Amino acid sequence: MKFADLHLHTQFSDGTFTPEELVLRAQNSGLACIALTDHDTVEGCARAEAACAAVKMEFITGAELTAEHKDTEVHVLGYFLDTQNQVLLEKIAKFQSVRQSRIHEMVAALNKLGVPLTAEAVFALANCKSPGRPHVARALVKEKLIGNLDEAFEKYLKKGRPAWVPKTKMSALESVELIHQAGGLAVMAHPGLNRTDDIIPDLVDAGLDGIECFHTKHSTVMAERYLEIAEKYDLLVTGGSDCHGFSKKAPLIGTVRVPYAYVEKLYAAQKTATTDAHR
Ligand code: AMP
Ligand code: FE
Ligand code: FE
Ligand code: ZN
Repeated sequence: MKFADLHLHTQFSDGTFTPEELVLRAQNSGLACIALTDHDTVEGCARAEAACAAVKMEFITGAELTAEHKDTEVHVLGYFLDTQNQVLLEKIAKFQSVRQSRIHEMVAALNKLGVPLTAEAVFALANCKSPGRPHVARALVKEKLIGNLDEAFEKYLKKGRPAWVPKTKMSALESVELIHQAGGLAVMAHPGLNRTDDIIPDLVDAGLDGIECFHTKHSTVMAERYLEIAEKYDLLVTGGSDCHGFSKKAPLIGTVRVPYAYVEKLYAAQKTATTDAHR
């Protein structure tokens, strides 16, 4: 049987692997297909695609867009995105710039607390256009200003903690539209993580194509509930490990294995979408 991991991050956002390292690990995990879903960027896709082609692994372009609906943060995965789509690139560039400004704000908040971290240290470590809290956490650990990543979130960076800074996000409905106009399928990421079931009907009305049922932080019971929801709303089913390399405790790639039949359904839906002029 063939398996896929459709939720992965690299150094182009807050993962620690290069696209090439990620593909090597995917190969070692026996995966037949992967999708790259970095936060608010598609920059890593070209390299991941080339690395996959070299080892004859299937690759699906993607991104995980940070969005919100009714004051709830929701992550929307875009699959089969045209990585050259100008509207998409302009829009995500704007949110990358929001992310960069937010690093300055988080560092300023830390400085106010007497923690001598510099924004330069965070940017040097992140070395990407889409930096986030995990980079601040890693910089704090690297500069020996905190013991470990968990502590950094618990003490400073978690929502409500003193160095947490809210992030301007696009609306979830807008993110679905943005993904569609870039030729992609829009999938709600890890609904069980943010407990956002109540917003699913609104997203479905906006044209949501799928829902991530299988995820590292979804229990079997949760996965089953989302499979039922997918059935109820006629949504595609996806899943993935949400591997961030060593930015989380351990690399997760290969720990969530999505049966390939679901990937086939994605391809079929993608084909229908691109031939449907009224979309
Ligand atoms: P940001 O996009 O900057 O708000 O950061 C979100 C990233 O931080 C995601 O990859 C999360 O998985 C990660 N994250 C959020 N909360 C925690 C936490 N308590 N411990 C470790 N990582 C976290
Ligand atoms: Fe992340
Ligand atoms: Fe996410
Ligand atoms: Zn993710």
